[in-house]
Amino acid sequence: MGKIKIGIIGGGASGMVAAVAAARNGAEVVILERMDRVGKKLLATGNGRCNYTNIYIAPDRYHSTDLSIASKIIDSFTTYDTQEFFRGIGIEPYIDETGKVFPTSLQASSVVDVLRDEYTRLDVVEKCSENVLKIEKYSKGYRVTSDKEVYLFNKIIIAAGGKAGAKFGSDGSGLRILEKKGYKSNETYPALVKVKSDFPYLKSLKGYKTNCNLSLFSNGECLESDFGEVLFADYGISGPPVLQLSGRGVKEILSGREVYFEIDFFPELNKLQMYELLENRFLSLRHKSIKDSFTGLIHKRFVIPLLKESNIVDFDQKCTRINKKKIYEIIKNLKSLRINLLDYHSWNEAQVTGGGISLNSINPETMESKCEKGLYIAGEILDLYGDCGGFNLHWAWATGIRAGIHASSTSLLENSTNR
Ligand SMILES: Cc1cc2nc3c(=O)[nH]c(=O)nc-3n(C[C@H](O)[C@H](O)[C@H](O)COP(=O)(O)OP(=O)(O)OC[C@H]3O[C@@H](n4cnc5c(N)ncnc54)[C@H](O)[C@@H]3O)c2cc1C
Repeated sequence: MGKIKIGIIGGGASGMVAAVAAARNGAEVVILERMDRVGKKLLATGNGRCNYTNIYIAPDRYHSTDLSIASKIIDSFTTYDTQEFFRGIGIEPYIDETGKVFPTSLQASSVVDVLRDEYTRLDVVEKCSENVLKIEKYSKGYRVTSDKEVYLFNKIIIAAGGKAGAKFGSDGSGLRILEKKGYKSNETYPALVKVKSDFPYLKSLKGYKTNCNLSLFSNGECLESDFGEVLFADYGISGPPVLQLSGRGVKEILSGREVYFEIDFFPELNKLQMYELLENRFLSLRHKSIKDSFTGLIHKRFVIPLLKESNIVDFDQKCTRINKKKIYEIIKNLKSLRINLLDYHSWNEAQVTGGGISLNSINPETMESKCEKGLYIAGEILDLYGDCGGFNLHWAWATGIRAGIHASSTSLLENSTNR
């Protein structure tokens, strides 16, 4: 019997590992990639260093409409599985103090290179600048039409990514192809994305970074909090906790809710402790103006915005003149400064896609479509995204490898009798 011929739509993270897994199983594999080369997004990951997994992989680090289905995949493909897979092709892991895993070369290009080396050794055919437009069933499998050619495959793996980082190739066309075929797609939205705000002091705060606790509110209800470095920019705020909470925030904006962040600059102190701290400072620094009394406690650039937000107009008045009520207003802004979340950056700037093809469409044991035998779906095109820190690439490897193994492990005979 001849080899199973597998077509992989998309030469990104999940498509490249799917190719390796399927070719190792003896399949004849062709990757169809719309860009002029494979792995363009991979090269940009982790600021060019490729944070390819995390030692704390767990379902609660992921977001999906069908998390229980995703959990089956995440629980059965550990960070050690990812590290072993990559060690086997030459990538030694370097684990940083937060649990992020990078290649010790700290070069994303190493990851692309070793994947290409491995599948080239296995005779995988890479066809770039092939924009897949249509996928149809035929008697022995699938007919795939690109802007250049028509291909016939026994099985196909759709690994075309979502809509995020569109400049690297994932323009949502894979989603559109599956939607046209009748697959259920949950509403997509940019996630791990910088957000825009109307906070009035952004221009003067631009470039100011601070470690703080950030909480996301929707219609007055606190949804989630995270701790880390927040960076102020002229459009709004960014930094790891902002990115982390952004997907949920964008979803709430799209639902028409009033969405805002609250920043706690002193999460280690409660309001009473904060009051004592300020009162003692104002007493011991009684010769100073209210403006100067904050030197050494908060960043210089934040002093005037803090005073203005606390309705203090005379910045030169002695700090001892600040009464209890005003101290509590200052505390409110130090412990829960409100930053409205009005908008977000475009798909091009987003790192991942929230929403996508419903996980209910696939069998999580194999990644095969429940309604079309021989069609497998992997990676970010599915309705799931993970936190910042290697969780998204981990999902791409977990689903890509699984799809590659299962697409290549059933016989041609079994495939054609299913039709
Ligand atoms: C700037 C940036 C940095 C990131 N850093 C990290 C990180 O450090 N760690 C982490 O875990 N995650 C990171 N991510 C997220 C991670 O890169 C993605 O989740 C992951 O690449 C998704 O893999 P994928 O294979 O599903 O899709 P992609 O990697 O997007 O690959 C899809 C491929 O399919 C091709 N394609 C699409 N449509 C078609 C078509 N119609 N015909 C042919 N080809 C098509 C695309 O050109 C693309 O090459 C980052 C994302 C960005 C944008």
